[in-house]
Amino acid sequence: MAKIPHRLYLTEDQMPKQWYNLRADMKEQPDPLIHPGTLAPLPEDALYPIFCEKLAHQEVDGKTRYFDVPEQVQDMYKMYRPSPLCRAYNLEKALDTPAKIYYKFEGNNTSGSHKLNSAIAQAYYAKEQGLKGLTTETGAGQWGTALSEACSYYGLDLKVYMVKVSYEQKPYRKAVMQTFGASVTPSPSDTTEAGRAILAHDPLTTGSLGCAISEAVEAATTTEGYRYVLGSVLNQVLLHQSIIGLESKQAMEILGEYPDIVIGCAGGGSNLGGLIAPFMQDKLLGKADPRILAVEPASCPSFTRGRYAYDFCDTGHVTPLARMYTLGNGFIPASNHAGGLRYHGMSPILSKLYHDGYMEATAVKQTDVFDAAVQFAKLETILPAPESSHAIRAAIDEALKCKESGEAKTILFGLTGTGYFDMAAYEAYLAGTMQNHVPSDEELQGGFDTLPPQPAE
Ligand SMILES: *Cc1c(COP(=O)(O)O)cnc(C)c1O
Repeated sequence: MAKIPHRLYLTEDQMPKQWYNLRADMKEQPDPLIHPGTLAPLPEDALYPIFCEKLAHQEVDGKTRYFDVPEQVQDMYKMYRPSPLCRAYNLEKALDTPAKIYYKFEGNNTSGSHKLNSAIAQAYYAKEQGLKGLTTETGAGQWGTALSEACSYYGLDLKVYMVKVSYEQKPYRKAVMQTFGASVTPSPSDTTEAGRAILAHDPLTTGSLGCAISEAVEAATTTEGYRYVLGSVLNQVLLHQSIIGLESKQAMEILGEYPDIVIGCAGGGSNLGGLIAPFMQDKLLGKADPRILAVEPASCPSFTRGRYAYDFCDTGHVTPLARMYTLGNGFIPASNHAGGLRYHGMSPILSKLYHDGYMEATAVKQTDVFDAAVQFAKLETILPAPESSHAIRAAIDEALKCKESGEAKTILFGLTGTGYFDMAAYEAYLAGTMQNHVPSDEELQGGFDTLPPQPAE
C-alpha cells in the first residue's frame, strides 16, 4: 500500500453537505435550558429575543439527525476548507512510538481557529432573518475575529465585548476585528447595566468571559434588529463544528484508518464536540468503541473537578440556566493562567456524555502544555495555540504509553489553531517565568458558592 501522505485534503466535492446532530443518537438527552426564575424549560420561542429563529431551533432540536449546510455557508466554507488531516510522522519518530498520530488542523484561516466554522453559520442565519447586526463577547479574541470575518462577508454590523485583560494585552487582535469592520469594547464597560454593576462592585476588575457575555446579551436584547451569538458551549455551535469530525472520519476512511483514541482540548467544548461527533455516533450505536478524551487546564478544571449542576452561562446572571459541569459562574481562573480555556462551564451535550460514562477527561498544567507546544512546533512546523497544545500534550502522553506497552494505537487529535497572538505566553514559558496554579478545594468552593438554587430532582 502507498505510504500515507503527510497531509490529506478532501476534494470540494467530498466535503460534507450536512451537519450531524449528536443528540439524535444519544440514549438520554442533555437537560434543556431553564428559566432562572421559574426553573421551567424554555420553549424555542422564548429564545427568539436572544438568538435568531433558525439558531434557536437548532438549539432545542434533539431529534433531527442531519441539518443541511445552506449553500451560501458551503460557499464560504470552501474559501478555507476542507482542512487537512495530517500525519505527525516527525513527532512519532521523535517519540519513538509505535503509535500512529493524526491531527486535524483548523488553523488555516485569519481567525486562526476552528471558530470560523460556526461564525459563518450564525452570521448567515442572522442575515437570512433580515437582522441588522450581532453582538458577542470574546476572550482571547479568536471568536471575535472569526465572527467579524463572517459578519463582514454577509454585510452585518458587529459589536464585540472583549475581556478587558485581553483587550489590553492583545491590541493586534482588536485591530484585526476592526479591520473587518467590528466595533470592539473592553468589558466590563459603562455601556451596559450589567457592566456598570460589575464595575461598581469591583472597579479594578480585568473582566471575564462570563461578564462579557452579560454585556453582549444585554446589548443585543436592548438594540432593535440585533441578536446575540456565542462561539462555544451551545448545542447549535457543536452542530456546526461537526464538520471537523465528519471531514476527519471521511479522510481516515480513505486512508483505511480508524482512531483508537480521539483527543481534544476543552474550553466550552465546541471543537471537541465537533471532532468526536461521528466517532461518538459509532460508539452510541455500538459500531465501534474508540476512547474519547477531553483535555482541560488544571487551573480551570470544569470536567475533572466541577459539579454537574444547573448554572448561569454568565457572571451577570442575564442568561438562562444550563445543566453542565461547572466551577460556578463566579469562578475566575488565576491571573497567571495564560493557556486559554478559561470558561467556568462546559457544553451540556458533552457534560451529559461525560456524566453517563461515554468519555474521559484529564487536566494538565500549563508548563507541561507549553513543553508539548514547543516540541510540536519544532517538529511539525506549526506554532500551535496554547488551547490546542492541551490536546498535543495528551496525544504525546498517550503515544508514550504506547511506547511502554508496545501497542500500535491510532491516535487522532484536534489541532484547533495557531498561537501567533499568544507570544507573550510563549515568552514567559521560554524565560522560565511561567507558573502553574492548581486551585485548592477552598478556592473551588468559592466558585461553587455562586451556583444558583437547583431545581428539585
Ligand atoms: C476557542 C478556542 C478553543 C476552545 O474552545 P472550545 O469551544 O472548547 O473548542 C480551543 N482552541 C482554539 C484555538 C480556540 O480558539
